[in-house]
Amino acid sequence: MNRPAYGTPEYEEQCRINRNCYNVTDWGKERIAKIICMDDRNARVRAFNDMTNYLSNLHLMLRDVGAGGHVHFCNHCGKPEQAQYQEPVAAKLKANGLCHRCDFWHDKRTAYNAQQRKGRMLVMSGWVYGDSGDQPNGNKSWLGFGGSRWYLYQITTGKLWTTNNLFSAGDIPADFLAGMPDNAVSLTKEQFELAQAGRT
Ligand SMILES: [Zn+2]
Repeated sequence: MNRPAYGTPEYEEQCRINRNCYNVTDWGKERIAKIICMDDRNARVRAFNDMTNYLSNLHLMLRDVGAGGHVHFCNHCGKPEQAQYQEPVAAKLKANGLCHRCDFWHDKRTAYNAQQRKGRMLVMSGWVYGDSGDQPNGNKSWLGFGGSRWYLYQITTGKLWTTNNLFSAGDIPADFLAGMPDNAVSLTKEQFELAQAGRT
């Protein structure tokens, strides 16, 4: 195999590629060390599953990065991101230097903090929800949570309401929780009726 001569652009390019390959595997090693130290069992299991996926695809990533393919290391979590998505997603990730997951939650957090007090994005116990509007006569299979009835209290406005059409956008990762405090509470039917009775 021809090694490019020291100091040439080809040599620099080879160094850059080698460094990227090293960083891709090194991130995995560091991540495993962090997972072992996680106190929360659920977080540990989730992180372990993520890591299993990462290792399953590692040979493909290294082959691609070794051939000079794009990779950047997320500004937020450090994870290697190849940005192999359709435009405009790929260009956005390359521009903001985030991985797909951190970009998703970064956008969610920005939208959450930009919304009005009566905003529609709800956070309850660290999960993101949105009410798509009560539909008492709606087809349950089209409704959020299979049409389950929710009794809700919006902390920021004091609004009390009920809906059978709540959707979840997932649980907020621990590293984004601090910027997205709970702004609503899910009540039991009894609590809801008590709260309503107290207002009349
Ligand atoms: Zn990230």
